[in-house]
Amino acid sequence: MTCYDCALQYSLLRKQFRDQPIASHQLVQEKLTWMINEITKAQLLVLQVGRLKDAGKVQHQHISMIKKNNVAMALECARLARDILGANGIADDYPIMRHMMNLESVKTYEGTDDIHTLIIGSNIFLLVQFRIKLVIPAPFIRALGDVVNPLWARLRVSACAENRD
Ligand SMILES: Cc1cc2nc3c(=O)[nH]c(=O)nc-3n(C[C@H](O)[C@H](O)[C@H](O)COP(=O)(O)OP(=O)(O)OC[C@H]3O[C@@H](n4cnc5c(N)ncnc54)[C@H](O)[C@@H]3O)c2cc1C
Repeated sequence: MTCYDCALQYSLLRKQFRDQPIASHQLVQEKLTWMINEITKAQLLVLQVGRLKDAGKVQHQHISMIKKNNVAMALECARLARDILGANGIADDYPIMRHMMNLESVKTYEGTDDIHTLIIGSNIFLLVQFRIKLVIPAPFIRALGDVVNPLWARLRVSACAENRD
């Protein structure tokens, strides 16, 4: 949020080309729009997971979603803010680089981005397995058994015969 606020204020004050504030350019507006859109979505995600926690329904993958999504979003906001501030974006006079460096470490501690991806992914996999169990109709499983079981029995018989020889 600080990076967004800083970039917004800067874009209103900084004038370039015909004494126009850079905020009047659509490319700068697009960056600020992306930032406020994603910040709002991230806040809603946290609010929803907070509600799940209050209801005693929160699960590991929800926490991983927040961490993965919101840190990546915050890092991108910091990068866009740095861009809007031009060369001043890397100067110590503004807070952008401090936040960006901090966020680079947040991406690693309390679970790396990769590990949160694995947690979310493994949960999807469990759900898929669960759904497959539910949707395969029983007659189909019986028919599959009718085909596979004789083949399996024949294989076992021939393996026993080979062992005897
Ligand atoms: C600023 C900061 C503060 C910290 N504070 C604390 C603290 O207070 N308490 C604490 O306990 N720890 C703290 N840590 C440590 C942090 O928890 C670990 O750095 C983090 O868990 C990653 O472990 P690692 O550094 O050993 O990286 P590694 O486990 O060696 O991982 C290195 C890379 O390999 C990837 N990787 C590893 N395993 C897999 C896998 N199975 N599949 C795919 N990719 C994989 C990782 O995602 C990462 O990109 C802090 C770290 C930092 C940077």
